[in-house]
Amino acid sequence: MSDLRDSVQAAFGAMGLDLPASKGGFEARSPIDGKVIHCFEQTSTRHLERSLQSAVIAQMTWQSVPAPVRGELVRRFGLMLREHKASLGRLVSIETGKILSEGLGEVQEMIDMADFAVGQSRQLHGLTIASERPGHAMRETWHPLGPVLIISAFNFPVAVWAWNACLALVCGNSIIWKPSEKAILSAYAVHSLLERAIGECDFVPEGIAGLAIGDARVGTRLVEDRRIALVSATGSSEMGRKVAASVSARFGRSLLELGGNNAAIVAPSADVDLAVRAILFAAVGTAGQRCTSLRRLIVHDGIYDDVVGRLKELYARLAVGNPFDPANLVGPLIDRDAYERMRAALTEAASFRGRIHGGERIHTEHEGAYYVRPALVEMPSAKGPMTRETFAPILYVVRYFDLPEAIAIQNASEHGLSSAIFSTDIRDAEYFLGPLGSDCGIANVNIGTSGAEIGGAFGGEKASGGGRESGSDAWRGYMRRQTATINYSEALPLAQGVTFEL
Ligand code: NAD
Repeated sequence: MSDLRDSVQAAFGAMGLDLPASKGGFEARSPIDGKVIHCFEQTSTRHLERSLQSAVIAQMTWQSVPAPVRGELVRRFGLMLREHKASLGRLVSIETGKILSEGLGEVQEMIDMADFAVGQSRQLHGLTIASERPGHAMRETWHPLGPVLIISAFNFPVAVWAWNACLALVCGNSIIWKPSEKAILSAYAVHSLLERAIGECDFVPEGIAGLAIGDARVGTRLVEDRRIALVSATGSSEMGRKVAASVSARFGRSLLELGGNNAAIVAPSADVDLAVRAILFAAVGTAGQRCTSLRRLIVHDGIYDDVVGRLKELYARLAVGNPFDPANLVGPLIDRDAYERMRAALTEAASFRGRIHGGERIHTEHEGAYYVRPALVEMPSAKGPMTRETFAPILYVVRYFDLPEAIAIQNASEHGLSSAIFSTDIRDAEYFLGPLGSDCGIANVNIGTSGAEIGGAFGGEKASGGGRESGSDAWRGYMRRQTATINYSEALPLAQGVTFEL
């Protein structure tokens, strides 16, 4: 058992939450020491069925509660997140191995999302449309959709759930959360806080928010259920492929946030000081375990030696270790599988004549913990493992000679999540952002690929899933659109001039 158990107990205690007795087959481990902190039981089939039935019944009531009143539930939940930010941030770091600043940042993202959704609850607006017929009016209205299943990944164990949950709730839907089997603790705590907020609001029906603990098998059972109107799934593209097929076979709706093989281009006019700092955070932050982590760097031949030289120096100075030590900027990988995938990718890179700097394991007193030195890999061309997402801190670097070539290298990926260009030349920047530029859902100029704000719509193209979550008009994904034509005249003209008279 892990020494971190006491910290977990203390965090739950500070929030006034009870941890259930530690039993069952799902082990919550901390990657910090690789040891078990707590055990959870899988949600039984009977309990899953009860959650689904409750979600359907709660939906009937919740969808007729006025949206700004629904917003009041999310407002109260947001206040609880503010109150318990420190404890929740610690839990996230213990469970994922993120440095504490990032654990706290993840909770801040939930708070921001709650605030955003509260405002949105007064802005679920439709359109009025000009009708071609006299005495007719047309309008477009948005209605609640139905129960929403939220499947989350280990690396953002609570923030991505909040993107979905806060909007789904204000849009009038019940929710069921299937968290990652690798990050149950923080999900359990956040779900318990939501239940507390629900208990404080007498206008919220029972059963509006469920939690289902288990792995892909539990996820699959829920995904196949016709009572789920929307499956919002975050995780690997491999998972998304299965979920998309299953949901579309029953004509359900899915919202997919999947993997990324994100690239940045460093153009000749780049502010290299700024670029290397941004590249470093994007590539090694969260130990390379963000969907938006920078994995491919495409550097102009004229500045290649300068950029790569500076990055090598920065990489050599990186402190890797316990994420609670403020001197460390890189924590552990999530588990042994992640480490083995990193090793396999580096071995393959070497077979493609990649020159590898770093990438070795750093042994600590915890044999079951996997700390690695982030790897910088100079590749002769964008081939082999550089064409895939490896969820680890590996940054592949290649040279380019002109911008269309750099963009072609970037867009050759099967993924299309996040991208960036470093340039002080407005022509480069605008070309990159234009129709012939980046094909990704996220395209940045002079900042890295990771660290999006919640105000914009988040998501990517191609194997990154096509979904959009959090800000902008992402709320529409949780509602159904209805077009209504109202005849307030005494005549019955048909559209397109069609006549039909007896
Ligand atoms: P994963 O695909 O292994 O698991 C993600 C979730 O899906 C887990 O809850 C898992 O139990 C569930 N799951 C797996 N197979 C399933 C199936 N067939 N049916 C239903 N549920 C299933 O991913 P992971 O290792 O937890 O997370 C890392 C991956 O997630 C990376 O590829 C990363 O890029 C991606 N990710 C994407 C985003 C985004 O917003 N685009 C955010 C975070 C992570």
